[in-house]
Amino acid sequence: MTLHTESLYALRNALPQLNWITAPVHLKRLSRDFHWFSPVLKRQLEDKVAEAVVCPRNEDELRLVVAGCAMAGIPLTVRGGGTGNYGQAVPLEGGVVIDMTALTSLRWVKDGVARAQAGIKLAALDALLKPQGWALRCVPSTYRMATLGGLFCGGFGGVGSIAYGPLGATGTILGVKLMTIETEPRIVELRAPEAMRIAHAYGTNGIVLEIELALAPALDWDEYVLAFPDGERAYAFAHALASAPAIPKNEVALFADTVAPYFSKLVPHVSAGEHVVVAVTTPQSREPLAVLAAEHGGRIAWQQNSGEESATQYTLLEYCWNHTTLHALRDDKALTYLQTAYEYGREHEQLHAIAREAGDEVLMHLEFIRDMQGRVTCVGLPLIRFTTEDRLRELIELHRALGIKVNDPHVFTLEDGKHAGALDPTILDAKRKYDPAGLLNPGKIRTVF
Ligand SMILES: Cc1cc2nc3c(=O)[nH]c(=O)nc-3n(C[C@H](O)[C@H](O)[C@H](O)COP(=O)(O)OP(=O)(O)OC[C@H]3O[C@@H](n4cnc5c(N)ncnc54)[C@H](O)[C@@H]3O)c2cc1C
Repeated sequence: MTLHTESLYALRNALPQLNWITAPVHLKRLSRDFHWFSPVLKRQLEDKVAEAVVCPRNEDELRLVVAGCAMAGIPLTVRGGGTGNYGQAVPLEGGVVIDMTALTSLRWVKDGVARAQAGIKLAALDALLKPQGWALRCVPSTYRMATLGGLFCGGFGGVGSIAYGPLGATGTILGVKLMTIETEPRIVELRAPEAMRIAHAYGTNGIVLEIELALAPALDWDEYVLAFPDGERAYAFAHALASAPAIPKNEVALFADTVAPYFSKLVPHVSAGEHVVVAVTTPQSREPLAVLAAEHGGRIAWQQNSGEESATQYTLLEYCWNHTTLHALRDDKALTYLQTAYEYGREHEQLHAIAREAGDEVLMHLEFIRDMQGRVTCVGLPLIRFTTEDRLRELIELHRALGIKVNDPHVFTLEDGKHAGALDPTILDAKRKYDPAGLLNPGKIRTVF
């Protein structure tokens, strides 16, 4: 890593009015994300650290930093809540980390559409939308810490994706406003689908300032833990609930009997050997949900009705998606995880095949979603009993050999992760246009552009 000590010293002296952070302990904290879920990334990224962090309070301050870094050739890495899992916000080549979390304004809400600054936390945005009758369509389980810009540039979706699909499904993201990385930074407005060139590109091809997105009606939600005597019945129930068109839902997840014991708060309610479905549905669905569970041999092990969470201070949403991995890792440091997608229509068969081939090295956790075409399917965040990096690779290859797609969470470049195979040329085109000197988050794109 080349140090930019002198040029950064000059930049900080030229811009003393900005909120610079340089204490080593804070530099370290603000250079990290949740890549440590992966033993491979933990080893590779542990020593990467920014040389300075800046927290711009408005667009003018951001422009000053960007222009200064562009002039001096200092790398820039944008950071939202820092909850990414693949070292997306880790500065591989030092330089400046730009903390976006002071840019939090909700610009407007109109006709079910909102426009907000990228640094706003998702829970804070939802809280502003709710009194107006609206909610975000899908959020990661990290919605309390994660930002709107971080979700757009680094995330997939999550809670709500069972109703609206991933964030990238046509119709949710309507437009973005960007700042380019140039000595005279430009402001660019992109409408969808062009706006999607910036999505999930790890902040490599423009700094997102504002996002305009379509909303969902705000609904009240009940939360359930449903217990089943075996995986077959749990799967059949989860699929039936996920597919039931007249039961509005925000979350359907399935946890094998080997995973449920990691949920310390749920343990008293679930017996050994029971497979668990977490469901979040509307109060009007209480009766049909109970009937559907009974039809599949399940029982309601725990229920929290809408409004009760303020008393318990507790939501099942923070047990789903990658929070499952977080809870499990707290208990057993030798675990890691994968991100898998099953072939539509072959999910059940592929799940059986991987259980047969991998045995108890793969502990099943499924999330039901609508895919980009609106079809009900499931994706996996299985826990993996980690032994060696070679064995982890073998398990990934085993999934792939069975036709199961793996979005490898143990790599940090776009080409090796979700964009495996070929990087969409429109992402590279945006990189050339909006970051011509290649200063944004260097190292995350391998392809020469
Ligand atoms: C326990 C746990 C659970 C999770 N669950 C989910 C889940 O359910 N669904 C899901 O999709 N993800 C999940 N994640 C991953 C992550 O929390 C989400 O993707 C989240 O949306 C990231 O937001 P952030 O603000 O923390 O982004 P960061 O980690 O700060 O950044 C993510 C990427 O976006 C870039 N970026 C951030 N802001 C901007 C901007 N304004 N302009 C340009 N680039 C920018 C960064 O450079 C980085 O590359 C989970 C992670 C953890 C640790």
